[in-house]
Amino acid sequence: MADNKSNPVVVIGLGRFGTALALGLTRRGTEVLAIDHRPKITQALAGQITQIATADATDMEALRQLGVPDFYRAVVAVGSDIEASILTTSLLVELEIDDIWAKAVSSQHGRILDRIGAHHVVFPEHDMGERVAHLVSGRMLDFMQVDGDFALAKIKPPKEYVGVPLGESNLRRKRGVTIVAVKPPGEAFTYATAETELSYGDVILVSGRTEEVERFADLP
Ligand code: ADP
Repeated sequence: MADNKSNPVVVIGLGRFGTALALGLTRRGTEVLAIDHRPKITQALAGQITQIATADATDMEALRQLGVPDFYRAVVAVGSDIEASILTTSLLVELEIDDIWAKAVSSQHGRILDRIGAHHVVFPEHDMGERVAHLVSGRMLDFMQVDGDFALAKIKPPKEYVGVPLGESNLRRKRGVTIVAVKPPGEAFTYATAETELSYGDVILVSGRTEEVERFADLP
């Protein structure tokens, strides 16, 4: 029950990231309590989010009055004001919120948030920069760093793997990657099997260690 997706979420800091997050959660049917200390922001979003409050999130009394201690999950989306981000996160830890997410703008910021007790630290600017770098510089159509050193990429199949059943390609042993799914032109993605033969024009999803996925995507 407690970690149910429909559980209400507190979103603190309604900059570009926090606003997109609060509106995204609302669209998915999740109740949101959104907090920002700038009245202009909270007024502009009034009516679009379940509950919105103008308050300083570094003030414990304000958090208590808004009922924040009753929430299971909270996201600290304050980024550029690092002091406010750290203070707010530490108050949520003190309030024993079970699932605290915090946005970091640098690796040092992320380390501090982790040390003071945030359960998940996200780096939206860094992650998006990495992703766009892969799209801009290579042949990738999409890229996602799944976890630490593991990635998933959407690419066109390299020439040498066209027309060969995947089972005979020794991809995992030779290249360290797995082709997860294939999308022929005009069709939907389907799971790849040992019998799957790739064609020019297909789009494939490939997974593996980031470096190996990158190397595979660079093959002609
Ligand atoms: P982004 O880069 O996503 O736009 P910012 O870090 O620039 O994010 O914005 C953070 C938001 O957090 C701003 O709208 C700001 O008003 C709000 N904010 C900053 N400090 C506090 C605080 N102490 N209490 C509540 N909201 C805050």
